[in-house]
Amino acid sequence: MSNALGNHILVEFMGCDPHIMNDVSSIERDMVDAALKAGATVINSTFHHFSPYGVSGVVVIQESHLAIHTWPEYGYAAVDLFTCGEMDAWISFDYLKECFGAKNYSALEMKRGAVQLLTRNDFDISSMRQKAGEWTNPEMYTRNVWFTDKDDNQALSLRYTGEVYYDVQSPFQRVRILESPKYGKLLTLDDMFMTTEKDEFHYHEMISHPAMFTHGNAKNILVIGGGDGGTVREFLRHEGVEKVTMVEIDGEVIKACKEHLPSIAASFDHPKLNLIVGDGIAFAREAANEEFDLVIVDGSDPVGPAEGLFSVEFYRNCHRILKPGGILVAQGESPKFNEQAFTELNITLQHIFGKENAPVSLFFVPTYPTGMWSFQYGLKGSAQPKAISNDSEIEQFVNAKGLKYYNSDIHKASFALPNFVKTLING
Ligand code: SAM
Repeated sequence: MSNALGNHILVEFMGCDPHIMNDVSSIERDMVDAALKAGATVINSTFHHFSPYGVSGVVVIQESHLAIHTWPEYGYAAVDLFTCGEMDAWISFDYLKECFGAKNYSALEMKRGAVQLLTRNDFDISSMRQKAGEWTNPEMYTRNVWFTDKDDNQALSLRYTGEVYYDVQSPFQRVRILESPKYGKLLTLDDMFMTTEKDEFHYHEMISHPAMFTHGNAKNILVIGGGDGGTVREFLRHEGVEKVTMVEIDGEVIKACKEHLPSIAASFDHPKLNLIVGDGIAFAREAANEEFDLVIVDGSDPVGPAEGLFSVEFYRNCHRILKPGGILVAQGESPKFNEQAFTELNITLQHIFGKENAPVSLFFVPTYPTGMWSFQYGLKGSAQPKAISNDSEIEQFVNAKGLKYYNSDIHKASFALPNFVKTLING
């Protein structure tokens, strides 16, 4: 019989793989398995992934807890193995050392709660024993795996089930399909939320239909990016469309979405779709003058492969390849999350298309930080999205297609900007 209530092993794992140190799903799985391997009864696990990196988490066990905080940038993890009863936490230690690929470590074991220093209080524990019985069913334990997307001052956290359906490091980015109890399966690229089953229609209906009903007769459409397939799906709902060319740089994104997000990636086999896996920046540079009615830039945030999708050179080419009367629509970031990218993009479009020809449409996406997001327009003709008059035609299409976000009122309202946004873009 130990003369201490608990045993605490303080562990420093060093020289670990930074990617593992930043992978909340595998760390959660390894920490839970480490407890189970040592014979513990797991009650619940709560893990958080911090953006841009770092993971914190705890596995609550009937025998106390295992906790971790990681510094991927140092390949370092601080781990606490606190147990009571007969459990041998060194089994968990050995398992985690392997899982994290720790090149070196230090571990300090200390007894906690020296019985001879404590006074036992007498209280009736009979009622407690019944409750304890429930915890012996490991299926019972709840997993709280949280993913946080944040910048220095604000964050968006989503709980996800911990299941990883797809996880591939492509030449361009890390492509993952995860699942959130609230938003269903979701696509992340380099740990940034891209689209989810439950709110993707907000984004995909607003990137497509306002431009279609503003142009009025778009037949040849270019989509750059859009690897999840939601944007081309919406354009191909319009019978009048003759051809949609989609240029996505990363084939892994298309593959992941076809397999795990079929409701979004529903039109990849459509006969009117010309699907190209390649760099959209180069495609726009090499495309012929005045070829497209619409050019849609459904790109990710201005980092990695998508950085060039925010450049002046790229938008000059987009303007050149648009037919007279053509319309450009670009994923425009958020005036409340990355103001600089949002503002700089609009100033670029004003310079290339003209001050009055670069309107901004605001809409809401619950799983994007702040929820407030934008599409930015470049108009190569007189058609103004704010001044549409074909409401009945729009409502007919909305009802026929069962759209869930877009309608003629939302179309017009999305171009009505709050004063702070007008100030951002008009200086
Ligand atoms: N809704 C998302 C957002 O707002 O961030 C964008 C969705 S979509 C998945 C973005 C796609 O753009 C990704 O599949 C990414 O691979 C693609 N992409 C990034 N840079 C690209 C480039 N230079 N050419 C073509 N596609 C690119």
